[in-house]
Amino acid sequence: MKVKLRGPSQKLRRASQVFFSLAAIYTGWRFVLFVHNGALGVSRPPGVEAFLPLSGLVGLKYWVITGVLNSIHPAATVFLLSFLLMGLLLKRGFCSWVCPFGLLSEVLWKMGERIFGKNLRLPRGIDYPLRSIKYLVLGLFLWDILFKMDLNALASFIYGPYNRAADVKLLLFFERISTFSLLVILSFLVLSVPIKNFWCRYLCPYGALLGALSLLSPMKIKRNEASCIDCKLCTYACPSHIEVHRLKTVHSDECNACFRCVAACPVPDTLNLKLGRRTVGPSVYLLMILLFFFGLTSAARLAHRWENSITRREYQYILEHVDSPQFSHRTGEQSPQLRVKEASGPGGR
Ligand code: SF4
Ligand code: SF4
Repeated sequence: MKVKLRGPSQKLRRASQVFFSLAAIYTGWRFVLFVHNGALGVSRPPGVEAFLPLSGLVGLKYWVITGVLNSIHPAATVFLLSFLLMGLLLKRGFCSWVCPFGLLSEVLWKMGERIFGKNLRLPRGIDYPLRSIKYLVLGLFLWDILFKMDLNALASFIYGPYNRAADVKLLLFFERISTFSLLVILSFLVLSVPIKNFWCRYLCPYGALLGALSLLSPMKIKRNEASCIDCKLCTYACPSHIEVHRLKTVHSDECNACFRCVAACPVPDTLNLKLGRRTVGPSVYLLMILLFFFGLTSAARLAHRWENSITRREYQYILEHVDSPQFSHRTGEQSPQLRVKEASGPGGR
């Protein structure tokens, strides 16, 4: 059922999604030029490390234990930290206000709504097990990184050849994509047309991590039972299939703070995003997202912890030898050409 959405929340959200998506495309394009020019000319955009969440997680654990923000992919760790803090305070707002894949998913399911008249909702018996897949994937990563990797393993990964070449390898993965991987990605895209947020709801481990953290968030969608007229428009508008009209407070890990339910509600002051007893409007919410994002990334820039320490010469070496066995394992001995001076202690990077 198509629901009329009132107020500025959806325009603000769209503007935010488009802004972050364009920034991601621009960053990706700069990195493509950097790699295709053999690390000469165009400088490497550190923002490309937003696409290295696992390196960011390993770096975050290393940072917590040693007090040292690694110099190989420091921006990956800063991005991850800012997204985790967003999750803790602002729920899964990252998914619906920042993430380019969130925007793509939304465009696809809206296309499906237009084509088929409505989207397909999987039966609970299928929906629940599928939703747990993303937690399973997340659990495997967390188990491997947070529980199994000791300080030595963390350091060998961070400063090892595989991680040093991770950004280049990621680009080459897409440039030389295998037929199988392409078919898998295409099938996710196709499934995202009839099924709302297929990737985000069932498979994205980042979404799972933010969803789990969002349960601790003090911000919640709250319904005023006294003024609610039980029209169910909030539930119809919710892309996460949350039965908002039945709840006093939405505690779901699938709530991504998209404000669609709030915008659908025809009764003033009946459904709002609340921080304690205060209502948080969409403009204030967007400001908080920008504050978390630009606050932390700007602090890292000011502290000279943003650019990585891999020199252009080292990148040239990586580009020439990226297919050699030394870059195919998570840990291992570095070749002398790849070794960079790593300061230890809180002052080093
Ligand atoms: S409950 Fe409201 S804010 Fe949360 S996902 Fe559903 S529509 Fe969006
Ligand atoms: S909260 Fe608003 S949209 Fe939802 S059922 Fe009540 S009146 Fe309708």
